[in-house]
Amino acid sequence: MDMEIKPFLEKLENLFLSMNEKYDEAASYYDFHCHGCDENCCMTLFYHHTYLEFFYLKEGFDILSSELKKLIYERATENCRKKRESDQKTAPARTMCPANFEGKCVVYYHRPMICRLHGIPSEWSFPSKTGVNRTVISSGCEEFTRQCRKKDYFKFDRTPFYHQMSRLENQLKEHFGFKQKIKKTVAEIILGEVPF
Ligand code: SF4
Repeated sequence: MDMEIKPFLEKLENLFLSMNEKYDEAASYYDFHCHGCDENCCMTLFYHHTYLEFFYLKEGFDILSSELKKLIYERATENCRKKRESDQKTAPARTMCPANFEGKCVVYYHRPMICRLHGIPSEWSFPSKTGVNRTVISSGCEEFTRQCRKKDYFKFDRTPFYHQMSRLENQLKEHFGFKQKIKKTVAEIILGEVPF
């Protein structure tokens, strides 16, 4: 991978560490424990929207053993084939993420943002058309609701994380001259060519 990407990934790593810290703080307040569940968020069709996450996940994939890489690559290919099929039928694709093996994420350290933040209730503020800030509060996952519905909300504001992510992403795009938007699943990132 191009060495010029390294400083961006180091900054992303620090940002992800702060997200982990906040998430752990909230999880410990609720005493929430994820041991896997039927809803399994790793079967949800999540899209990732930054080159930062693209390159960071690629970095995590690159350090796996060649046997594991081959397996993930095959699963990603199958995953994308199923997604194309379901796209045509307009049904949401529910396929296991190619990086999940027996309930464990093999790229856990390098996982994208939504994989880190999913599960626990959180909020996000943004300026509305009238210029007044709007805040959206999202509920936790089904397992969270089962375990912790009786607890009061712990303020988990994703806004500063989104802003920092967006600033860093813009710097990266400017540095490498990337003009196009990116929107990819984990499987598509695994199969995707690095654009330099
Ligand atoms: S990258 Fe890891 S945490 Fe994210 S969906 Fe895949 S297996 Fe789950």
